[in-house]
Amino acid sequence: MNPFQIIGHQQVMHTLRTQSAHAFLLLGPQRVGRKALAHFIAALANCAHGTACGSCPSCLAIARDTHTDVMFVAPKSETSTGKQARRKIIPVKVITERRDEGHDYDQHVVEWLQIAPHTRRKVVIFDGAEHLNAEAANALLKTLEEPPHRAMFVFIAEDQQLVLPTIMSRCARIFVPPVPEAEMHQALLHLENQIDPDLLAFAAGRPGVLFERETVREALVQARELVQGLESSMLDALSAAEKLEKSFNPEWHPEALLFAFRHHPLSVRARADQALSEALERLEQYANPALVFQVLALKLREALGRV
Ligand SMILES: [Zn+2]
Repeated sequence: MNPFQIIGHQQVMHTLRTQSAHAFLLLGPQRVGRKALAHFIAALANCAHGTACGSCPSCLAIARDTHTDVMFVAPKSETSTGKQARRKIIPVKVITERRDEGHDYDQHVVEWLQIAPHTRRKVVIFDGAEHLNAEAANALLKTLEEPPHRAMFVFIAEDQQLVLPTIMSRCARIFVPPVPEAEMHQALLHLENQIDPDLLAFAAGRPGVLFERETVREALVQARELVQGLESSMLDALSAAEKLEKSFNPEWHPEALLFAFRHHPLSVRARADQALSEALERLEQYANPALVFQVLALKLREALGRV
């Protein structure tokens, strides 16, 4: 496997090699490999051989996330006082030092790009371009239009509808599709010498799942246990829900739960989905987790027609 940990995506890499643009918008589902491809773009721009060879010092530094010409910007959860509402944003204060009155960030995109690159081209990667608010996008616009020292930008997003038009119109759009089953299969064999059909079905073409397979497997087992509990007695359902609450991982458990319901009729799955979104919403509002999971268990039992 290449050091950028790209699984599949030959076509996308071909496009990236041949397309000349200084700003890219990588669109695709989470964990499909967009971040690895962003590293690939940075490597292409700075590789000693110009090929993203994966073995020159520049490529290796990019793969290790230690390249001095690559800056990575990700959204942060902003906790507004009082209401405890959390939403993720990429704030204007990471874009320019002039707007970072509290000195919250060590590096700022605009000022960082003014300094000449060590290798060839500086690359700023925005992971979660949907979270760039209008204020931040405006502060970035001039630099994006006339990047100093031929700097490059990579915006990563899941849903292009949520990316500001001012950003989108200045980027070459690249769609990153799920990786075909055969390549996923091959990659998993390479990683652990065995085939796990459940894991591959759950991954559904997202290589990122394979890199976190132990966590995912655990979530899948716990989700199955919950569904078994639900189908047994009310008491089993509640104790399974309590167990799930203790180990709940919002990254994986919601999806694992829906996956555990995948062989049920559509109407059951729709109700389970609804119950789960409600539970997640309550957890985000910091409702009592024990209670949230009890309610979830009752709702899921209802969905299964067991009352
Ligand atoms: Zn290289």
